Amino acid sequence: MKDLRHLYTLENYLQEANNDLVRQAQSEGRYALGSVCSQIPEPLLDLPNCFCVRLRAPRTGSIEMGTYYMSSILCECCRAILERAIEGGYGFLDAILAPDACAQMNRCVENIEHNHFCEKEGFFISYADVPMKCDETALKHYVKQMRLHILEPLKEHYGIDCSDTALRQAVEQYNEICELLTTLGDYRKEENPRITGYEYAVFCLASYCCPKDKLIPIYKETIEEVKNRKQDEKTGYRARVALIGSEVDDAELIRVIEEAGALVVADRYCFGSLPGRAVIDLSTDEDVLTAICRHYMVTGQCPRFMDTAKIQERQSYVDQIARDYKVDGLIYQQIKFCDYWGYERAHAFHVMRDQYGYPVLSIDRPYVAGSSGQIRTRVQAFCESLEVKRLKG
Ligand code: SF4
Ligand code: SF4
Repeated sequence: MKDLRHLYTLENYLQEANNDLVRQAQSEGRYALGSVCSQIPEPLLDLPNCFCVRLRAPRTGSIEMGTYYMSSILCECCRAILERAIEGGYGFLDAILAPDACAQMNRCVENIEHNHFCEKEGFFISYADVPMKCDETALKHYVKQMRLHILEPLKEHYGIDCSDTALRQAVEQYNEICELLTTLGDYRKEENPRITGYEYAVFCLASYCCPKDKLIPIYKETIEEVKNRKQDEKTGYRARVALIGSEVDDAELIRVIEEAGALVVADRYCFGSLPGRAVIDLSTDEDVLTAICRHYMVTGQCPRFMDTAKIQERQSYVDQIARDYKVDGLIYQQIKFCDYWGYERAHAFHVMRDQYGYPVLSIDRPYVAGSSGQIRTRVQAFCESLEVKRLKG
């Protein structure tokens, strides 16, 4: 297929946390707010005069210093982010808003704070608790935490407008991005998709790491381009898969999987669109902050939600995606030493295979997976097993 016009530009933006769009927004006087987890609602960080930047560590090489501070048995993603902070890669940030969701990421952020690795004037860090259950009591707690530890500090430090009107405006922008990405992502449901998993991941990832308003024209043009794009008759892919699991903040992982023969048509991971780019419903009588928190709590698919209802919901959600996107198999992946996804992956592997009947590949992987020969080999073997199954079928 012909290359997408904006793909290269977005690939370049993803090479750096402090990219051109971030710099542009800051030069307009807006504050860059770092986020480290999907459980801090993005609209709260995309209020007027500020914007959300989900932290990644693109082009990570050595993580020696991160490992020195955090030990070698903690998640490589956290160590890589700490390493990048030590190198000064987040010096542009005006704040980091971190949830008490993943203890390993919290250790990373605490190291940044105590060692003053982000030194911009006015920089601050705030921590907030987020729910582990999905019920009305948890929702009340969530709303209170977001008010006390996200909105109030933003108002106090930078005078950010946190009124209902401002929140509503942030949700409208968020929903616009979600609708555009859903339109683009729906092309992956086609028998011969007009967009690859890698391309889609680049577009989707950018929405987490760049000021959203700057991406809207790019997404609109890309949708038009994809609408008229002519697919190759022969794709060379041997199977369609859904990719599930912990943070995939580098589209190179998807490139490796696709080069090994499996087209990634569904992205159920942190930084993906399912359900990360579902629109927030503001049509109820609830105040805006409660509606935002309810959305994040109800749609959240993170294994940190540990109650039985949520565990079962995660499995049926994956089953629903698998049907909608007509996948041949599931790939569960987890960054090494991630506890939440370690348990989820081990459990879901059996449930999705034995109770739901899906072929499942289960991988634990390094943070930097773009050149992993082992992943390539395992995906190739998985594709082969799917082909054999089809022949027998
Ligand atoms: S997997 Fe869960 S805890 Fe980890 S970053 Fe994503 S939402 Fe947060
Ligand atoms: S991969 Fe797991 S351990 Fe690492 S930051 Fe994400 S949730 Fe935490």
